[in-house]
Amino acid sequence: MLLEVNNVRKVYTTRLSTQSTEALKNVNFAVDNGEYVAIMGESGSGKTTLLNIIATFDKATSGNVNLNNLDLSKLKDKDLANFRRDNLGFVFQDFNLLETLSVYDNMVLPLVLARRPISEMKQKVEPIAQMLGIKDLLKKYPYELSGGQQQRVAIGRAMITDPSLLLADEPTGALDSKSASNTLDLFDKINENGQTILMVTHSTVAASRAKRVLFIKDGLIYNQLYREGRSDQQMFELISETLTAMANRGEIHV
Ligand code: ADP
Ligand code: MG
Repeated sequence: MLLEVNNVRKVYTTRLSTQSTEALKNVNFAVDNGEYVAIMGESGSGKTTLLNIIATFDKATSGNVNLNNLDLSKLKDKDLANFRRDNLGFVFQDFNLLETLSVYDNMVLPLVLARRPISEMKQKVEPIAQMLGIKDLLKKYPYELSGGQQQRVAIGRAMITDPSLLLADEPTGALDSKSASNTLDLFDKINENGQTILMVTHSTVAASRAKRVLFIKDGLIYNQLYREGRSDQQMFELISETLTAMANRGEIHV
């Protein structure tokens, strides 16, 4: 199993500890190599909290996350940046490109930080830029690009180190519907090429493109759906029905 999330709980406490929020109660799931999993939930359901813990940006209050059988809580703080760079790729809602760097330099940044040779950078950018349709943009700067183009660059940057796992937090959240659809097309394509993807989103349209959908509510995984050959439209309908059922019947804990 590539990723295992076991009994993860997260409580946020304020500095004065007068109030605490239990963002995650007890989250359990696993992701195998090659999967494309969406975690769906309303705003405030704990999606970003969960993703940040898997990404090692934050620590669980209890429980543990294993990636490639390595317990992430065992990593030392000084090793976290290297661990992320070598194992994970990130795609965020607001792209997070560096404005002072060209598209090319943004894409190769993880390799620069890993002190890889320049020849390797050139070699890696070429096929990824080709696949993402951004070959003509390599000399441009982020402010010269549309949101959809910026997100493609961000996907390129995430892919450049061949990460074991691509993590995406609301990747279509800042995009118009056409750019969102293009971004999701690219996720399909890179998943077909073998990239494992874990995406959190509140968008039914986005989730309906994944091969498996987990539903998070009040810090718990309540349900999951497998695509099982369904079309995007059929997935969309099934997800919508599931959300309605969850809202009406409340808690069916799977
Ligand atoms: P989502 O991404 O699904 O919208 P979040 O994971 O951002 O949800 O938030 C889950 C819950 O945890 C919310 O109640 C939110 O207010 C709370 N929360 C998130 N981050 C923090 C934080 N840094 N400090 C305190 N509470 C937080
Ligand atoms: Mg969020």
